[in-house]
Amino acid sequence: MPIKCMKCNKDAIIFQKYSGMHLCRKHFIEDVERKIKLTIRKQYNVEKGDIIAVALSGGKDSIVLLHILHKIFSKRRDVEIVAITIDEGIEGYREVTLEKARKLTSELGIRHIVRSFKDEYDKTLDELVAQERELGACSYCGVLRKSLMNKIANEIGATKLATGHNLDDEAQTIMMNHLGGDVERMIRLSPPRALEGLVLRAKPLRKVPEKEVALYAIVNDLPFDMSECPYAHEALRGEVRDMINDFEVRHPGTKYSIMRGFDKMVGILGKEFPQASLTDCRVCGEPCTAELCQACKLLGRS
Ligand SMILES: [Zn+2]
Ligand SMILES: [Zn+2]
Repeated sequence: MPIKCMKCNKDAIIFQKYSGMHLCRKHFIEDVERKIKLTIRKQYNVEKGDIIAVALSGGKDSIVLLHILHKIFSKRRDVEIVAITIDEGIEGYREVTLEKARKLTSELGIRHIVRSFKDEYDKTLDELVAQERELGACSYCGVLRKSLMNKIANEIGATKLATGHNLDDEAQTIMMNHLGGDVERMIRLSPPRALEGLVLRAKPLRKVPEKEVALYAIVNDLPFDMSECPYAHEALRGEVRDMINDFEVRHPGTKYSIMRGFDKMVGILGKEFPQASLTDCRVCGEPCTAELCQACKLLGRS
C-alpha cells in the first residue's frame, strides 16, 4: 500500500523528514510555491514598476525559479521579468544548458538576453583557464559572471536580480563563512539595501531544499539540464555539503536552522559592520570597493 498524502487521500510522492509530512504531487507543488511566495513577500518586496532580471543558467534551480516567478507575476502588468543567460564559453557544456534556457523562455514568452565572455572579455572561459593563472577556474568564472550579470541588469534598468540559490547552497555558504571566521563576508550574503550601481540580489528559492527543487522540476516536466560543469568545483564546498547532508539525515531540519540562525544574526551584525561604500572601477566603470574591480584584476587589466 502506497503512503497517502497528509492533506488529501492521494498517493504521496515525497516525505519531508524535517516537517514530518507526506505529500502528493498537488500538495507538494503547493508547498514549494508557498515557501517561495513567503520568501518574496517577507524579504524582497516586489513593487509596481519592478523589472526583475533572472539569472538563467539552464540548470534545474534557475529553470524552476523562472517558471515560478512567471507563474506569480505574469498576470501583473506593472512587473516585468527578463531572463539573462551568460555563455562563459565552456565547450560541450554550455551549448546544452543554453538550449534548455531558450526553450523555456520561448515557451513562456519571456524576453531573454544571452551574452558571452567572448564578446565581453575577448576570451572564452576555456581560453582564460588555459592561460597561466593563480586561481581555480570557478573563481574566474564566478567573478566574471557576477560582474557581467550586474552590468546587463543595469543596462536593462532591472530593479532586482534574482538567482536560483536553494536552501542547500545557502546553508553551505553560511557554514563555509563560519568555518573561515569570515563574518563580514557573511553579512554581504544578504545586503539589507541596494548600493549605488549594484542591483539588489534576490534569492527566492532560499527556503527550498535542493532535492525538492529537482523534484519540482521533474513533476512539472520543466526542460532542465542535468549535466555538471566540467571544471572541478570548490573542494571546501564539497566537504561542507557532505557534512551538512550527513547531519541533516540524523537531525532533520539542520539546514533550516543554519539559515534561521544566520537570518537572526544578520540584522544585528549589520550595525557592527556597515556596508562598504562603492566607487566605479577605474577601467570598466563597474561598481567596486577598490580602485580596480575583481573582474579587471583577474583579467590583468590596468
Ligand atoms: Zn495531497
Ligand atoms: Zn573593472
